[in-house]
Amino acid sequence: MLTQKALLAAARRPGLRKVVTGTPVTRRVVERFVAGETLPEAIEVVQALTVDGLAVTLDHLGEDVTDRSEAQRTRDAYLAALEALAPLDLGRAAEVSVKLSAFGQALPVGGDDLALELVRPVVELATSLGTTVTLDMEESHTVDSTLGVLAELRRDHPGTGAVLQAMLRRTEDDARALAVPGSRVRLVKGAYHEPASVAHQDRAAVDAAYGRCLETLVRGPGYPMVGTHDPRFVQQTLDLVAETGRPADSYEFQLLYGIRPDEQTRLAAEGHTVRAYVPYGADWYGYFMRRLAERPANLQFFLRSLATKS
Ligand SMILES: Cc1cc2nc3c(=O)[nH]c(=O)nc-3n(C[C@H](O)[C@H](O)[C@H](O)COP(=O)(O)OP(=O)(O)OC[C@H]3O[C@@H](n4cnc5c(N)ncnc54)[C@H](O)[C@@H]3O)c2cc1C
Repeated sequence: MLTQKALLAAARRPGLRKVVTGTPVTRRVVERFVAGETLPEAIEVVQALTVDGLAVTLDHLGEDVTDRSEAQRTRDAYLAALEALAPLDLGRAAEVSVKLSAFGQALPVGGDDLALELVRPVVELATSLGTTVTLDMEESHTVDSTLGVLAELRRDHPGTGAVLQAMLRRTEDDARALAVPGSRVRLVKGAYHEPASVAHQDRAAVDAAYGRCLETLVRGPGYPMVGTHDPRFVQQTLDLVAETGRPADSYEFQLLYGIRPDEQTRLAAEGHTVRAYVPYGADWYGYFMRRLAERPANLQFFLRSLATKS
């Protein structure tokens, strides 16, 4: 728990960023979780995954942008990603995930408006190409803002997806509010360090909340996107789907690129929609540190490769 807290705090420290990203060994470990630093590399990974029967959501790495021109570059990167996906003709099998903090949400004045203004053309292009955008969820203090932007986008683009984090105490209410027809919701446990005032602190409580939210979403009339590697919740989803008679095209599993790849293809081969979340780009530090914090085995793998320099 202490290591997890330290890693999540380190994910926000620019000084450590230089040390970690400057090590050649780190880059080799990063390749396991990140599809490359450039768009062509990411597109190659998309092609390989979709040949294997998976759907994808492409994430251009970056977060906590504090400058308008950098936020505009995020918009441009996503427009380029969608243009690059278009010739593959994958339709909804290839969508994109965005972090609003990379679109200027964190700017001290007018951040919400800027994020909405810059993300809107991305959502419009996605719609015109027959696909969708999902708004990732970041720290708890951004939830109201992100759900506000989501509500605005859904007026014209009802397929825009949301993410809910089971660790947050508010999420059971949010899940009920979003369990409506046409609503696409990715349910995750939550990857950020949050205080006890807003979030469950122990794993058992987070898991119990995840189970309850999953039940709300799968029994509801929306489109649940089950974002987990946890076999217990994959099984709970399968049980709920069987019990409710949900058709195969009315829900999906989502897993991160490089994590439990065999399980991803196994579920897809059984006829379930499985979407791999595929991050790419040079700004992989925060994403990488959250993956290390999530699982002792990931951290051990990283430390072992530092020790052996292999
Ligand atoms: C598609 C997707 C999108 C996400 N988007 C967001 C987001 O927008 N905002 C956010 O805060 N978080 C997001 N997350 C991260 C999420 O919040 C969790 O931090 C992360 O998924 C780890 O939780 P878990 O449900 O996989 O279970 P964990 O509690 O990490 O693991 C539970 C069990 O899963 C199995 N498992 C997990 N990892 C592995 C592995 N590497 N190899 C083998 N077995 C493993 C093990 O059996 C383990 O005991 C996303 C996750 C996914 C999958």
